[in-house]
Amino acid sequence: MAAGAAARRDQGGEKRILCVGLVCLDIISVVEAYPAEDSDTRCVSQRWQRGGNASNSCTVLSLLGAPCAFMGSLAAGHAADFVLADLRRYGVDVGHVVPQPGGCLPASVVIASASRGTRTILHAHGNLPDVTARDFERVDLSQYKWIHWEVFISKDLAQHFGYRSAPEALRGLHSRVQPGATLICAWAEEGADALGPGGELVHSDAFPPETLVDTLGAGDTFNAAVIFALSAGRSLQDALTFGCRIAGRKCGIQGYDGIV
Ligand code: ADP
Repeated sequence: MAAGAAARRDQGGEKRILCVGLVCLDIISVVEAYPAEDSDTRCVSQRWQRGGNASNSCTVLSLLGAPCAFMGSLAAGHAADFVLADLRRYGVDVGHVVPQPGGCLPASVVIASASRGTRTILHAHGNLPDVTARDFERVDLSQYKWIHWEVFISKDLAQHFGYRSAPEALRGLHSRVQPGATLICAWAEEGADALGPGGELVHSDAFPPETLVDTLGAGDTFNAAVIFALSAGRSLQDALTFGCRIAGRKCGIQGYDGIV
């Protein structure tokens, strides 16, 4: 699988991409249609899946063939063993995972509607402390060509701030970031927009799959694909288009296997 290719190239000394953030357990129930409150519904299928923004982006980077590492807090226990084994299965370097002796792994219950492709997420934040500046100081930065924290603006966050479109969010938030920064905002079926360092606005339409199957992690997939392209020296427009193309493919399948 492609993750194997990433691992082999990694041994060859290629610089890697580090994603810092959340890993959690997603318990996904696929239903034909979103259920009514206080109803009793039979699922089409149910599965455990490793989730969390940074961890999902690592999955996609690995599948694209980019050596990558995950950094984030991890509790002990069955759920944590499951996500750790899955990170390894995808060839993601887990050397920067920070074990936390107390607390439990955050978990999300996800209701995925097969007929509409929507995902409704119930997230239990858990009580794990975040990684600290001291943890980060231990990272040998010379191994990495890109470190991903939170640069990208999600549609959810933009809407929380009252913006009604990606261009509106980018223009509104531009003055709040450092001069010369690039801002990127994905907006579901409307694709994605970005504001380049010189203030230029670029756009890519979405690439809708033939059948909308599963949009859980579409944003994480988009982020990973954009990072993959930018870190390879491609233009902002190219990266945005590539991000939408890969994210669109992801929306046409359950999970991530098969996006490349
Ligand atoms: P999230 O809600 O997971 O943060 P978005 O819904 O904003 O992410 O989607 C991220 C990217 O995924 C979009 O820019 C788009 O390219 C793709 N995408 C998401 N939903 C659809 C859809 N219904 N049809 C086509 N592409 C989609």
